[in-house]
Amino acid sequence: MRHELRIGLRGKIIGLFFVCFSLMTMIAVTLLQSNLHQSFKAIESEEALKQINQVANNFTNEFERLNQINSDWSNWNDMYNFVQHPTSAFAQYQLNAQAMRTVGLKFITVVNARNQTIFFDAANLNSGKSENAHAFEQVIEHVKQRILQPIANSNTNCGLDNSDAGAVIVCWQAIHNTDHSGEFIGTLIVGEMLEGAALQRIHAQSSINFNLLPVGHISTYTPNIANSPLDSKTIQFESEQSNILNAQLSSIAGRPIFNLQVHFSQSVSQRGEAITWKVIWVLMLVAALTGITLLISLHYLLIRRLRKLDMDLNNIWRNGRWAERLPISQKRDELYYLARTINRMLALIRKQIIVLESLAHTDSLTNIANRRAFDQRLALEIAQHQRTQNPLALVLIDVDYFKRYNDYYGHPAGDKVLIAIARLLSEVASRPTDLAARIGGEEFAIILPNTTLDGSRHVAENIRQKLAALHLEHADSPLTEFITLSIGITEAVNTDDPSALIQRADKATYEAKQVGRNTVCSLP
Ligand code: GH3
Ligand code: MG
Ligand code: MG
Repeated sequence: MRHELRIGLRGKIIGLFFVCFSLMTMIAVTLLQSNLHQSFKAIESEEALKQINQVANNFTNEFERLNQINSDWSNWNDMYNFVQHPTSAFAQYQLNAQAMRTVGLKFITVVNARNQTIFFDAANLNSGKSENAHAFEQVIEHVKQRILQPIANSNTNCGLDNSDAGAVIVCWQAIHNTDHSGEFIGTLIVGEMLEGAALQRIHAQSSINFNLLPVGHISTYTPNIANSPLDSKTIQFESEQSNILNAQLSSIAGRPIFNLQVHFSQSVSQRGEAITWKVIWVLMLVAALTGITLLISLHYLLIRRLRKLDMDLNNIWRNGRWAERLPISQKRDELYYLARTINRMLALIRKQIIVLESLAHTDSLTNIANRRAFDQRLALEIAQHQRTQNPLALVLIDVDYFKRYNDYYGHPAGDKVLIAIARLLSEVASRPTDLAARIGGEEFAIILPNTTLDGSRHVAENIRQKLAALHLEHADSPLTEFITLSIGITEAVNTDDPSALIQRADKATYEAKQVGRNTVCSLP
């Protein structure tokens, strides 16, 4: 039988499994993401910081290159003399556009000890034409301020600045003789454009991908005059997700001049993300496989066997086959013990049913079959008789003057007589198919299958003789001083139903009473 199950055991267990597994997966993935992602991000951030510092270093290296050129020119006897006795000849032959172009300079300025410009020249690096001195006036002014206020512990006097012609790298050094001798008489200032070759050199020093974005006019700023142009206080990531690190580069005047943007690689956190996804997929696959395995094992180990058990039990219950037992599996598991216990209960039920049935069919005083058993059996035998045409006889027995007996000897004594008669009848109904029953107070009957009327007369006479042999005293009987019986016999005919047969036997008994009792009468 199929039961309507809202959620079966299988569904519940699998559901529970998936809830647990999903929880575990969620916890695992969350832990993985928070830990792995954080540490991968940290690695990337460290790397990005290194990279932005490396870019700053590249700038410093370019400063060093320019500083070296400056050094070559500022420690030069001819230059030293030129400051003391400025002649146009030296400037014309040595500090010309051709010379500047050779080393990539944009402009040269010589100032004396009082910071007064005594020479300026600029080269148009592309056309070779000299440029307007005004374009670099502000830069030179900034340098002069730095000459007046040098930074302590600084050995490179170089930096970035904005000119009207664009961003420049500028360096300045005190002018001395070639052997570095001589008192301070002035400063040589050289500058190059931060573009073209210079920018290429800075880029070429590392494979770091960076951008320089000019900073617009900032009205309020705190001057940040330092060795390195990189203002480390301004380093910050553009956003949580972005791979851009920003920092400001300061000019020699200490004002922000460029936004330096480093594009760092996110391959580490991308790999972390990939690992997380791989873990999620693997976990999902494991969950699916485990789920399927669980489903199959549940089905074969539990569900199928439980259903079979239920079906077997239902069969027993529906058909009332209490003698049947559940098959016991070979595996000694919980279901084995359950089936064993059920079998024990089935055995008990069967025993109880047998007891109840026999109680329901037995007369409690005489212990022979009662009226119910008699009726059932008679119906059965009549049906059998009609089917097979085998003879069937019925004997009805009534004790004579039994009321008088009870009145004379008392009810308990009467009971004893009834018990004795019952025992006697049982003996006489000796064939296994014969049935002796108590069908009323002092009335008995015997069903005699395969017995003719003659045969039943024989039985009846036998009863009377055996009773006479018992010498059951009945002092108050008008017939004899012993218990006697009136017996009616009859034989079944084809048209009989149980009540017709009983009626005829009853009539025969009545006749026996009429003819004087203690006799056998028959009605065919
Ligand atoms: P008759 O010869 O016409 O059959 O007279 P009778 O007295 O035997 O018949 P009657 O039907 O008048 O009385 C039957 C008596 O059987 C009445 C009752 O006291 C007695 N009897 C019925 N059942 C029991 C029983 O279980 N135990 C005892 N001791 N007596 C019973
Ligand atoms: Mg009677
Ligand atoms: Mg009687």
